[in-house]
Amino acid sequence: MNKLAINGGEPVRKNKIYYGKQWIDDKDIQAVVDVLHSDFITCGPKISELEKVLCDYTEAKYAVAVSNGTAALHCACLAAGIGEGDEVITTPLTFAASANCALYCGARPVFADINPDTYNIDPDSIRSKITPKTKAVVAVDFTGQAVQNREIREICDEFGLVFIEDAAHAIGTKYDGKGVGSLADMTCFSFHPVKTITGGEGGAVTTNSKEYYDKLTLARTHGITHSDELMEDAPHEGPWYYEQISLGYNYRITDFQAALIVSQMSKLEIFKKRRQEIVQKYDEAFRDIPEIIVQKEIPESDTCRHLYIIKLDLDKLSCTRREFFDAMSAEGVQCQIHYVPVYWFPYYRRLGYEKGLCPNAEKVYESIMSIPLYPKMTDEDVNDVINAVRKTTDYYRKNS
Ligand SMILES: *Cc1c(COP(=O)(O)O)cnc(C)c1O
Repeated sequence: MNKLAINGGEPVRKNKIYYGKQWIDDKDIQAVVDVLHSDFITCGPKISELEKVLCDYTEAKYAVAVSNGTAALHCACLAAGIGEGDEVITTPLTFAASANCALYCGARPVFADINPDTYNIDPDSIRSKITPKTKAVVAVDFTGQAVQNREIREICDEFGLVFIEDAAHAIGTKYDGKGVGSLADMTCFSFHPVKTITGGEGGAVTTNSKEYYDKLTLARTHGITHSDELMEDAPHEGPWYYEQISLGYNYRITDFQAALIVSQMSKLEIFKKRRQEIVQKYDEAFRDIPEIIVQKEIPESDTCRHLYIIKLDLDKLSCTRREFFDAMSAEGVQCQIHYVPVYWFPYYRRLGYEKGLCPNAEKVYESIMSIPLYPKMTDEDVNDVINAVRKTTDYYRKNS
């Protein structure tokens, strides 16, 4: 048997490959430079252009571009009217921002468990966590796979809840042929460099509701409006006049970030196709390795996969997840874990959350890791990753 690199053997590759990486080309760079040469580097026309591109792509009626995905979630919670004493149901297997947005509004995040095969929030668990205080559901399209939109919509309609979709992983994904972004009451996107397309930083909320749209734009800019329709003290004094009618923030994005995102959006279909090709190669390779379990997909989701997660069947391996992770790293494949259950963090513990709350999510967390997935990976890169997984599994397979 091949000796693992961690035990002094030859690594599968010498130059390390990471789990994700942005792809910025000369056209993207030129788009940014053009804006820097123009009159507006913020509050300019690129922002509306980005919003239009996002509406066209997702088929949502409105889009509000903001400074990052976390701001998008905060704005959505504010627009949903979430406040002190409310509860917001979300998943623990996510980035902390999906739950923090409720805390920003004085509400309490309530964690529903995941489906152990798809890793997305389980609609039955959502149902079991609803109380008279529940105001909204923040459902995360984990790894890019769409959440069970139909079931969650039904629950939200039945109990009068606002359905917020955290699609930070899921730009490019469709559910039942409809773009993620056009389905929930509000959908939040992130354009951080680890995500499918990037603006350096950046985010957006899409919605089909004019009322939410107005509230989102107010939340983005200090609660200040120039719109005659929204101003309360009419007639006003002159063209310089504006009003603050609520408490908002400065969550604006710059025009050069917007230009980068617009330019990246033009490549989204290419990125999606390549990501899907890689996912298919991985799925096929791991079908023959019983110790490696792959994520299940619901048939409704045409997924633009952001992360590829392998789950280790630790009963069949003579190693811990940590040992597998370290061995992969020594082979030249730097994995990552997405995510530590949010309520395990010390801050959440201090708020009274305890381990054991969502057994499926905790069990999944303990045996998963994300392997490299990004469109610029070559077929050789993909094969290296597969070989590293195979080598490590062969080495640690029990009774061998
Ligand atoms: C990245 C991410 C966010 C936050 O986005 P930022 O742009 O980094 O603020 C929120 N939710 C999920 C699921 C994410 O992965």
